[in-house]
Amino acid sequence: MDVTVVEVAPRDGLQNEPEIVSTADKIRLIERSIAAGVRRIEAVSFVHPRRVPQMADAEAVLAGVPRMDGVSYAGLVFNERGLDRALAAGVHEINVVVVATDTFSLRNQGCTVADGIERWRALAARAADSGLVRTVTIAAAFGCPFEGEVAESTVLELVRRVAQDGPQEIALADTIGVGTPDRVRALVAATGAIAPDADVRCHFHNTRNTGYANAFAALEAGARVLDASTGGIGGCPFAPAATGNIATEDLLYTLDRMGYVTGIDLGRVIETGRWLGEVLAAPVPALLGRAGPFPPETK
Ligand code: ZN
Repeated sequence: MDVTVVEVAPRDGLQNEPEIVSTADKIRLIERSIAAGVRRIEAVSFVHPRRVPQMADAEAVLAGVPRMDGVSYAGLVFNERGLDRALAAGVHEINVVVVATDTFSLRNQGCTVADGIERWRALAARAADSGLVRTVTIAAAFGCPFEGEVAESTVLELVRRVAQDGPQEIALADTIGVGTPDRVRALVAATGAIAPDADVRCHFHNTRNTGYANAFAALEAGARVLDASTGGIGGCPFAPAATGNIATEDLLYTLDRMGYVTGIDLGRVIETGRWLGEVLAAPVPALLGRAGPFPPETK
């Protein structure tokens, strides 16, 4: 069975790094991912540079990456200005985040949930006119760092509302890594039933070591697109104690062993994870770089 892994290290992975990574290294990271077989890359965020300085060179990154048939670049977009920038920079996809709780929404996006839905609505219409692929992400879908539990009914009501604007993809994000597989299974299945025309995508952080179990629960419930970051780097600048995304190499190991087809070469991602550790001057959280694949490669 085919699974699409969206590489998010250049965006979610790097945006929480305190040291600014050079534009050249960001481009190298993307080039290495493409060479490994990745075809969808969340490359940048069109956020105001004052809020996330690491993303200030979004235009320069997108000007420097290779343009190839079948390779799709996504950018996070928060407002009209961000969409202007995304269109000018030549992204193929936009990802618009709607946060599930007002407190986190105000901190992360500077607007309420209701206003977030209106923003998505306007951005989706313009992006559709421009021929861009549209993903809408529901953040804090499994719990909020400020308000605590988020009811399943709250998330599903949001799914119902954002689905009206025709996204190709609805992503459920466990922004702070609190979800468990039972909850993932239920939300993914219900999202698929509410929005049968959209693909269900999932975004997991491994903050409490539930990320990989959640990823496989999502696949079993019908999700076909998973976000992961090489090395397992990442976090959210506006969510206290949020840690890295699930690691691309650790996810690929189990996908490969279980017979899921991704088109991505595990060995190459392991090498990129090690390289990323050198760039960031700290070992990455991913385990495959230490343990190696199994069976061991014979070359
Ligand atoms: Zn994230």
